[in-house]
Amino acid sequence: MQDIRRSLIAKLMAEPACYIGKTVDVKGWVRSRRGNKYVQFVALNDGSSVKSLQIVFDLNKFSEEDLRQVTTGASIHVQGELVESQGKGQTIEVQAESLEVYGTADPDTYPLQKKGHSLEFLRDKAHLRPRTNYFSCVLRIRHALAYAIHKFFNDKGFYYFHTPLITASDCEGAGAQFQVTTLPLDKLPQDKEGAIDYSKDFFGKMASLTVSGQLEGELGATALGCIYTFGPTFRAENSNTPRHLSEFWMIEPEMAFYEIADNMDLAEEFIKYCISYALEHCKDDIEFLAEHFDKELPERLKFVVENDFVRLPYTEGVRILEESGKKFEFPVYWGVDLASEHERYLVEEHFKKPVILTDYPKEIKAFYMKLNDDGKTVRAMDVLFPKIGEIIGGSQREENYDKLCARMEELGLEGMDWYLDTRRFGSVPHSGFGLGFERLVLFVTGMQNIRDVIPFPRYPKNCEY
Ligand code: ATP
Ligand code: MN
Repeated sequence: MQDIRRSLIAKLMAEPACYIGKTVDVKGWVRSRRGNKYVQFVALNDGSSVKSLQIVFDLNKFSEEDLRQVTTGASIHVQGELVESQGKGQTIEVQAESLEVYGTADPDTYPLQKKGHSLEFLRDKAHLRPRTNYFSCVLRIRHALAYAIHKFFNDKGFYYFHTPLITASDCEGAGAQFQVTTLPLDKLPQDKEGAIDYSKDFFGKMASLTVSGQLEGELGATALGCIYTFGPTFRAENSNTPRHLSEFWMIEPEMAFYEIADNMDLAEEFIKYCISYALEHCKDDIEFLAEHFDKELPERLKFVVENDFVRLPYTEGVRILEESGKKFEFPVYWGVDLASEHERYLVEEHFKKPVILTDYPKEIKAFYMKLNDDGKTVRAMDVLFPKIGEIIGGSQREENYDKLCARMEELGLEGMDWYLDTRRFGSVPHSGFGLGFERLVLFVTGMQNIRDVIPFPRYPKNCEY
């Protein structure tokens, strides 16, 4: 955790005894500066911790002129001795011996002058918000979760499988797609019937950005056994909600020989592992977010880790909602695709625990889900979380060639011969699910809006940076 030219502030703070009395080089950005005519204190942050390191400039050694450029936002290199702090609020500080200013930040124009900017204000300054305490916490937690995800699957013998981002299969069905084309939009080539002639397009056919890597993931699982994807996904749905992005990251494990119960076990173990990992490795960041935004955050995280998720068939869930006597904005009846308010009622008010809802009506779920013996429901499983609603969507897949073909015909899905080959040759029971990465980050950080847990959010009418 230390490169040749600098000490990471996180490291100095974690093991002060190893460094006290030694000369250290710290490099970072000035968060604030205060003091009097004898001494100046600078809070320096280098991104390795939410905590800033206090640098003490003795004005016998440094002149006002030396320090003129040391203003909020400026980047500096300080060499000095690490000592125990005499002041309150920090245990260690650096007695500056030399100062190098890399880049100045004009106080009249640097946007992050004062503390406590609103999240909305910072969203407009998304290019600079990683320099705020709050957002750096989110980004470090995001990183830790991504690492935990790879570690979890790697340790279990899953293979990281890369599915394409550009796809020509329009059967994914998970959401509206963004088209990918190099055709001139002002002069589209037409065929004899006057339709757009996609044979002239870059791929010789219509193509779009993927909404899910699952179908290709199944090809991986039916060869390698267990795989997972972890990549960006694109959905052109016009949902201006605090839980939807147009570009988000998704983790999609797919497992040969797993049935629905195995799938649920894995989903529960996986999500608990990720949250435990963050609790263990992101203590300072979670503490900071709890203190400033969401007092109950640590308790909520521990609660999810320590309690079994409820497992409940959709039909039961609908009955509970109908009998709740609660006035919902959207009506609830058997067959309806549950809205977030319904999901959250079950989780937050009825069970007060995460819920895995299973066996949904086939009409509201994707074509590839395995049909139950009742002929009406499919082996779907959605994991519902407090504050979030759906965090995972998954299912056991239909492995029977004839049943799958019949369902695809019903829905008019064609041109998926490559997918059907998994059922034609050596078909096996298999299952998988998709976790929206940002929904997980949202839960672990306690943030309210999904646009605040990704560095550069994309949503309708917003594509900055
Ligand atoms: P929702 O009903 O919330 O729109 P969905 O049914 O469309 O979700 P799936 O297609 O099952 O979701 O996708 C799997 C997971 O991806 C979801 O459980 C969720 O965590 C995440 N997800 C889906 N759409 C989005 C989005 N637009 N932005 C961020 N995450 C998403
Ligand atoms: Mn959706």
